[in-house]
Amino acid sequence: MYKHKILILGGSTEGFLLAQKINSHYGGAVETITSFAGITQKRRAVIGRSRVGGFGGVAGLANYLKSENISYVIDATHPFAARIKKNLDEAAQQVQGVKWVHVLRPQWQAQEGDQWLLAGDMEQAAHCLNGFAKNSTVFLAVGRKELSAFSGCASIDFIARVIDPPQEQGLPPKISFIVERGPFDLQAERALFDAHDIAAVVCKNSGGDAASAKLQVARELGIPVVMVRRPEPPEGESVATVEEAIGWLDANFRF
Ligand code: NAP
Repeated sequence: MYKHKILILGGSTEGFLLAQKINSHYGGAVETITSFAGITQKRRAVIGRSRVGGFGGVAGLANYLKSENISYVIDATHPFAARIKKNLDEAAQQVQGVKWVHVLRPQWQAQEGDQWLLAGDMEQAAHCLNGFAKNSTVFLAVGRKELSAFSGCASIDFIARVIDPPQEQGLPPKISFIVERGPFDLQAERALFDAHDIAAVVCKNSGGDAASAKLQVARELGIPVVMVRRPEPPEGESVATVEEAIGWLDANFRF
């Protein structure tokens, strides 16, 4: 019989690592359940149990926490997954005895030589591309769900990197895809920029190492980066790393 059930809201490298580390750290004292939204088709296999699909808003998540008798929730969703973070803050407060924490990796900071154009959302990011020369090639590293924001940029050639080929409507008229999952290393990113003669990059300020090589290449080549700002952080307690999340569990664990 397990002592504690830990729900990991996954869909990120941190979620994958947490399942691995929590199981090796606490062994049979815990059971982990990693939850995926079900957006990507090819999910990484995780240690412990997993489940797929939304919970059904705040009420659905609160019900799930009660019915599964969850003691701890670690939100390891992507920094831009704002709704599930807010839902967790509300749902966990409704369920007695549940403790929760968000893992929010530090944002990327502009360094000397960077030419960042800051955008509040994807529409503003598209607006930033207005002055670009006709037929410039812009690298979109923003996922697949918000590509329609660039549909009005008819004179730009886009190359979008996605995990799954998009099914969405309203894509920009000139767009091709690289279907690939990170991490992305520096050499491969340099080759990609070179092969496609990239004139600008659009990305979210996701933070972390897995996708940061493109920023270094843009810096080396003096290429502008349209950087989409993060949404407001959640209200609940936060840590910055997987290690800190394990430390949080250690501090809160009741054996
Ligand atoms: P979101 O806007 O915060 O959430 C939308 C809805 O998806 C939530 O209300 C919830 O549905 C469901 N959901 C999200 N994460 C879930 C999880 N781990 N388990 C179960 N249901 C989940 O999130 P999003 O931006 O669409 O991202 C969806 C997933 O993709 C997240 O898990 C995130 O980690 C991952 N991801 C997102 C990005 C990004 O840039 N946004 C990048 C990489 C990976 P219900 O309300 O029905 O519970």
